[in-house]
Amino acid sequence: MNKIQDFNFSNKKAIVRVDFNVPINEDGIVTDDTRIKAALPTIKTILDKGGSVLLLSHWGRPQKALKKDPNTSIENFSLKRIIPNIEKHLNKEVHFIANLEDKKGINSWNNASSGSLYLMENIRWYEEEEKGDNSFAAKLAELGDVFVNDAFGTAHRAHASTATIAQYFDKENKLFGQLMQNEIDAANKVLSKAEKPFTAIIGGAKVSDKILIIENLLEKATDIIIGGGMAYTFMKAQGGTIGNSLVEEDRMEKALEILAKAKEKNVTIHLPEDSKVADAFSNDANTKFEDSNAISEGWMGLDIGPKAKESFREVLLKSKTILWNGPMGVFEMEAFQDGSKAIAESVKDATKAGAYSLVGGGDSVAAIKKFGYENDVSYISTGGGALLEFFEGKNLPGIKAIAE
Ligand code: AMP
Repeated sequence: MNKIQDFNFSNKKAIVRVDFNVPINEDGIVTDDTRIKAALPTIKTILDKGGSVLLLSHWGRPQKALKKDPNTSIENFSLKRIIPNIEKHLNKEVHFIANLEDKKGINSWNNASSGSLYLMENIRWYEEEEKGDNSFAAKLAELGDVFVNDAFGTAHRAHASTATIAQYFDKENKLFGQLMQNEIDAANKVLSKAEKPFTAIIGGAKVSDKILIIENLLEKATDIIIGGGMAYTFMKAQGGTIGNSLVEEDRMEKALEILAKAKEKNVTIHLPEDSKVADAFSNDANTKFEDSNAISEGWMGLDIGPKAKESFREVLLKSKTILWNGPMGVFEMEAFQDGSKAIAESVKDATKAGAYSLVGGGDSVAAIKKFGYENDVSYISTGGGALLEFFEGKNLPGIKAIAE
């Protein structure tokens, strides 16, 4: 497969699918431009090589809003609002195409000189996008000589501009962008080429969201640390008392199945020995430490305790490969952030000692950033759902469409 570094973009029109689904505040200002910055290397490479770039991205869920209120305005979902941010980073004018019927905009793009940069309005404003519609994708494909997919964050969606469009380009003219390539390389390094011991830290609220990833990791990891709200389903399933802690009764059997399978496969599952428990789901609640399988009535586990922090640290410091997905507690509240912070510190120290660490999947990224360790791990993924599905062992449509 061609790499963008080796591709001759000279006088070529490149359609570049990016994930610019960035947070925008009420004043229309981008409040976190991580995703925009992450796509810059790809855009710069193509422009520097004499190509022109037409950026496609989605923003939010306009179709959902339109269903609720057919009078919803495009202005509430417009990508126009991110133009100043892109222009600032690239020091270059961004030309805007309002939609596929915008003849003036499309004409201008078709006649653009090399090195030009264009942005199409929010592609999800079209209902055909999420349906992966063929004729819509074909219309988009007509706009370019080459298709570059740099939107790892939406690689798990079989949408028109992420997957369907690729079939209208021959193998030589569809490529991964730099971010997409980095994400795939990082995920493969952990999933297929992990140096052992390989520890996966799986946290977050619900077991149900993480069953598939845990099952797939049972085939790959040597150790799995389970923390967060999901740990209490495992505790209760084994006969523990968990007070008012989060539990999914209908997943208790599955939890036991996972524990049995782990034993069979020689994978060590580490559950938090103790917890910081609270008498209310509140930052101001009364708190104490208790064993995670003997929580008092009326109390709930909202973070891991000191014994768990210590034993998880020992496991992590012995690891050569680490994957972290999901916080150890309700880290959004200061009273229950220490467990996730301790894990972040242990991952940082293990990385310093030579381990390869990948942090990804939504809230663990927010956690590591909150504690200021984002530069102390090997790789932070920009993909939430996409990374999770990659580690569930699924073939992501956005990747498959380019690779096959
Ligand atoms: P997830 O999106 O599944 O990774 O879950 C992340 C969410 O899980 C965060 O918002 C945390 O506040 C929440 N969480 C973590 N631990 C607990 C817990 N012990 N009880 C309730 N919620 C939790």
